[in-house]
Amino acid sequence: MSFDWEHLLTDIPFSPAPDKLLRQVRMEPEAGFDAAVEAIAQEAAALARPKALYRLAVPEPLDETGVRIDGVALRSRVLRVNLDKANRVFVYVATCGTELDEWAQGKTDPLEAYWADAVKQLALQAAIQALNQDIATRYRPGPTSAMAPGSLADWPLQQQRPLFQILGDVTRRIGVTLSASYLMIPNKSVSGMRFPREESFESCMLCPRLDCPNRRAPYDPELYERQYGAGAHV
Ligand code: SF4
Repeated sequence: MSFDWEHLLTDIPFSPAPDKLLRQVRMEPEAGFDAAVEAIAQEAAALARPKALYRLAVPEPLDETGVRIDGVALRSRVLRVNLDKANRVFVYVATCGTELDEWAQGKTDPLEAYWADAVKQLALQAAIQALNQDIATRYRPGPTSAMAPGSLADWPLQQQRPLFQILGDVTRRIGVTLSASYLMIPNKSVSGMRFPREESFESCMLCPRLDCPNRRAPYDPELYERQYGAGAHV
């Protein structure tokens, strides 16, 4: 059963351009792999089905370190504070899709397997873009930020379980399953919560890892105490 506050995106256009794929694998066109990369891109375009599932919900404070969403408790002080002034939240999972994942697993040549992995990443980006566009067009939330379980010690990976619970049967609807260690399968999948927020928030602002290649914002060593510490009012 589908409610109008749940949205399933399964018809996401995806056709990886060979030049974009070459850039993704950091390979110069002169390297002489154009034809092979183009063949991979065509194979992928024929079977790829990136998908996303999201749900609009109203967060309720539970206590100082938790919120309740659709009757499900989530434990994170940072999430609790970030959602304090948010009157709605978009809970989501987006994925490259099982079709592409299974196709990539069949690639035994190491170079082809590497390219196939890059195609999966591009398909995931297409799913995330479609998800964010759908939220923006349908709900016009204004400026938003997002958080994902596992990005901070404050909101550990185990919290994938309640997030999936909010979304219902994620496996049946978009093929994403959780492993015993709470990792998503296909591995090119993301989950999280997007919420209205004037001031931009990135988990990276609270993360001290210096060598992370995916950092999206500088680390602010005083931010936690300033906005999320015991003295912060919520
Ligand atoms: S800096 Fe890297 S590890 Fe830390 S939250 Fe950002 S992306 Fe994740």
